[in-house]
Amino acid sequence: MIAGMSHYQSVLEATEAHLRALQANGVRFLNVQAETLLALQQPVPEQPDTVEGEPVPSPDFPNLNPNLNPNLNPVAAVEKQPAPEPVTARQSLPPSQGLPASQGLRRTGALPKLEVGDQGGAAVPPCRDSPAPPKLGAAEKQAAMAALRDRAMVCVKCPHLAASRRTVVFGTGDPGARLLFVGEAPGADEDARGEPFVGAAGQLLTRIIKAMGFTRETVYIANILKCRPDTPGQTAGNRKPTPSEMQTCLPWLLEQIDLVRPEVMVALGATAVEGLLGKGEGISKLRGRFQTFRGVPVMPTFHPSYLLRNQAVTEKRKVWEDMMQVLEKLGAPISQKQRGFFLKP
Ligand code: URA
Repeated sequence: MIAGMSHYQSVLEATEAHLRALQANGVRFLNVQAETLLALQQPVPEQPDTVEGEPVPSPDFPNLNPNLNPNLNPVAAVEKQPAPEPVTARQSLPPSQGLPASQGLRRTGALPKLEVGDQGGAAVPPCRDSPAPPKLGAAEKQAAMAALRDRAMVCVKCPHLAASRRTVVFGTGDPGARLLFVGEAPGADEDARGEPFVGAAGQLLTRIIKAMGFTRETVYIANILKCRPDTPGQTAGNRKPTPSEMQTCLPWLLEQIDLVRPEVMVALGATAVEGLLGKGEGISKLRGRFQTFRGVPVMPTFHPSYLLRNQAVTEKRKVWEDMMQVLEKLGAPISQKQRGFFLKP
């Protein structure tokens, strides 16, 4: 807090700065709960709001400025681990009494509820290299993943992506899966359906998963970026996520990984490898060689969209050999038929 400024003033200024930043990034409407508006109409407190230099907790006005509250800023929080106190961003307010949904933040669908203090941030965003939290049971994992999803679905950490997306594409599959696939970012199909890997590349990934003896429901699938990268001025096409977008979004994936605690992960394509492992060596060099991420073996392999562009059987075989290594790591049986895939043109 700035010297001489009351807690109330500093919170107000931080809130205003945050809203102006959102506005500058093209966000025009926010859905605010009725009780939040009522709270805003209360008179300014007159009593000094510090006692012997200690800031008074302010349950109604949590700090919205990510620079002042690292728990709302995944990048800052990752750098400042460990956080002193686990502060949950979401406030425990009654069920939605939201104002009528505004038009304009999204192209279709209702606005997500944005509660004061709800930046969708992780309570304590996990650090890239920190050990995973203790294992949870199946029901606890389901509940924890659902709660994480709820927070991610209203994330506005990248205001330009929040303004252009149809929906957040969180992840799909079994939170108790032994195998977790990581892709790059949603495309148009995924943005429309709210599920990762459902377009052409996704259908190929689904076939690969089936050839391995699994289904989409028995593995877990997520992306480095949960929002479709915007392409201003273009009606079609995709773009690679920027390093800053990847860094901002990574804490969601880290939480997903820590919940699932897979035995093996597959990083699909160079961007997934870069986002996850921070390695920009090139997927051709890295593929086929297990890496380690937070103690979990990670197999880098080609992205399915590469296989769609390059139909050579030799490239399909490379991916398949990578997947057989994954099966071996999992101790899963590999039939003679599976071993022979893509050997003959
Ligand atoms: N490509 C990805 O990397 N992720 C998706 O969800 C879809 C296509």
